[in-house]
Amino acid sequence: MRLVVIGAGPGGYEAAIKAAKLGAKVSIIEKDKVGGTCLNRGCIPTKSLLASSDVFGIVNNAQKFGVNITGQVSADFSEMMNRKNKLVSQMVNGIEFLLKKNGIEIIKGVGKLIDKNLVEVTKDDGSKEILRADKIILATGSIPVCPGLFNYDGKYIITSDEVLNLEKIPDSMIIVGGGVIGCEIGQFLRRLGTEVTIVEMMPQILPMEDEDVAKQLIRQFKKDKIKIITGKGITSVKVENNRVIAGVENTMLEADMMMVSIGRKPFTEELGLENAGIETDKRGRIPVNRKLETCAEGIYAIGDIIDTPFLAHVASKEGVIAAENALGGDKEVAYHAVPRCVYTEPEVAAVGLTESELKVAAKAYKIGTFDFRGLGKAQVIDKIQGFVKVITDENDKLIGASVVGPNATDLLAELTLAVHLGLSAEQVGDVIHPHPTLSEAIMEALHDVHGQSVHKV
Ligand code: FAD
Repeated sequence: MRLVVIGAGPGGYEAAIKAAKLGAKVSIIEKDKVGGTCLNRGCIPTKSLLASSDVFGIVNNAQKFGVNITGQVSADFSEMMNRKNKLVSQMVNGIEFLLKKNGIEIIKGVGKLIDKNLVEVTKDDGSKEILRADKIILATGSIPVCPGLFNYDGKYIITSDEVLNLEKIPDSMIIVGGGVIGCEIGQFLRRLGTEVTIVEMMPQILPMEDEDVAKQLIRQFKKDKIKIITGKGITSVKVENNRVIAGVENTMLEADMMMVSIGRKPFTEELGLENAGIETDKRGRIPVNRKLETCAEGIYAIGDIIDTPFLAHVASKEGVIAAENALGGDKEVAYHAVPRCVYTEPEVAAVGLTESELKVAAKAYKIGTFDFRGLGKAQVIDKIQGFVKVITDENDKLIGASVVGPNATDLLAELTLAVHLGLSAEQVGDVIHPHPTLSEAIMEALHDVHGQSVHKV
């Protein structure tokens, strides 16, 4: 069985490896670098930069822990970028190695469907190669949305693609969109000294999360002196004398740069979908069935090009499931337990349903909460801000959870497992949690659903 994957982001490369492990002969086509947006322009570079600014923060706070740092502590932005670039290229090599080790042919070029079983690759030198495939997986990812109003120029008006390659730290930056990308990059820049203003059209930043959760981040952003404007949109944008001037309804904002992070759109432009009879929906997404197969039999689509959350771990899971299905399986992705993570300080992580969604749906639910402040471990590491909130249905089944605070993105794994398996608050709360750890906040929040948290005041 010959399988061709187009796009080597986290969706495509994991699909390729899974298919190879299941015995398929696999070729993967990538026009840029393996690892896709996630590795080259997304998850990994942002987290590398955030890790650098975290270290800066820890060192500045060292005295509180009885550690004296003599001499001046300063942030070296270009070294932070170098470290990030080095990490990314090491990991690109790592993925290429993995692909080759699994006997997968990597073809550099733009892949295009010729029909349901033929893919044309246009290589950098203009030469073309035609591949015959029994099955095809489309995984071409997404690009930033930047409407004409913003007058994107890649220099003053930029997207996350450019911000990750800045040569120097700007003095001021307007960030349009207070979602995950806007918040992570905004806090990173602020911590290195940039004056940051976040403009978010919705009533709160992180609009997909509950208000009490987002409030914790807002509190920290206020401490960080990040300006937040909510409930308003940008009405005009121009660049004058090397400055960006933006209208926000009746106010004018001015800054060195503007980053537009208002969302991403599927990238399917070069794919030749029409040649296989595939049409996209109004938002450019490729419709698929529960097995991730498109309307063209034998052609699957995964990741940011379909109507599922724009997240690397969703793309990866879909890649693995599509590969299994392409090789005769009958699997589905469990979308009820998709973790959502924001790597700011405090971190924000959530899974399943939110309280606001349940209120809108007028569904019965119960809540248990526990503040990190009440934990020995949180006090020891001086990270007491935030809480765990768990949500159960009328049968005590866990249907959602949020963690905002230290290591929230790692802590969420236990709650994701519980929501995935449909476990009850009692079942998970009965598990012995190690002391002193941050995970005790989860146990206490689960006990709190029944009013039985020992340490809750
Ligand atoms: P992509 O990763 O976009 O990969 C698609 C690949 O296909 C690309 O390499 C592209 O060059 C290639 N391609 C496109 N067309 C063709 C063609 N015709 N022929 C050949 N190759 C082609 N997600 C998280 O889960 N956690 C995070 O922390 C996180 N942080 C992010 C931070 C930023 C700044 C951004 C922008 C995104 C972030 N994401 C994060 C989202 C995540 O990066 C994407 O959801 C994920 O990369 C989608 O994977 P994919 O495989 O669908 O597509």
